[in-house]
Amino acid sequence: MVEIVVMLGGDLPGTPAAMAAAVEKFRAAGVRNPRTGPPFRSAPEDCVPGTPDFWDMALHGEWGGTPDELLALCQRIEREAGRPALHSSREARILDCDIILFGRLVLETPRLTIPHPRARRRRFVLEPLAALAPRLRFPDGTTVAEALAQLPSV
Ligand code: ADP
Ligand code: MG
Repeated sequence: MVEIVVMLGGDLPGTPAAMAAAVEKFRAAGVRNPRTGPPFRSAPEDCVPGTPDFWDMALHGEWGGTPDELLALCQRIEREAGRPALHSSREARILDCDIILFGRLVLETPRLTIPHPRARRRRFVLEPLAALAPRLRFPDGTTVAEALAQLPSV
C-alpha cells in the first residue's frame, strides 16, 4: 500500500455533493482509510470570465494499485459525477480529481505526471493539503507545510 493524495475540486453548485460522493467511491474502489481535509474556497485562475469560485479538498488514503489504475479511477469518478469525457480544462467543472502524491514516486509519462506538476505553486492545493497532512513529504523531502511556507505571499 502506498500513501496517496488526490485533490478533489470543482466550481459548480453540485460540486460539494459530488466531492462527498467521490470519497465513498474511492473507498469502495479500494482506497483504504480515506481522510479528507476541510474544503478550501478560491477565486478562479486562468479561466473564462464569470467562472464561479472553486472548492478544493484533499483526500489522503492508501492505495494498492498502480498510478495508472488510480488515474483511471479518478477519471471514472469524474465522469460519474457528470463531467463530460471530452472537456476543456478551462471550463467550469462539477468534479476534477488530480493525483498530487503517490508515495515518494516521481513519474513523467504522456498521461501522468507525479507529483502533480502545478501542486507546489498552487496555494489552493497546498493550503487544503496542509490542513490535512502538513508533515507529508514531497519526493525531494520537502514537507507540505514547508512547501506552503515557501509560496510567495499574496
Ligand atoms: P485539469 O486537471 O487541468 O482540469 P483534466 O482533468 O482535463 O485537466 O486533466 C487533463 C489530463 O491531465 C488528464 O487527461 C491526465 O492524463 C493528465 N494528468 C497528468 N498528470 C496528472 C495527475 N497527476 N493527476 C491527474 N491527471 C493528470
Ligand atoms: Mg484533472
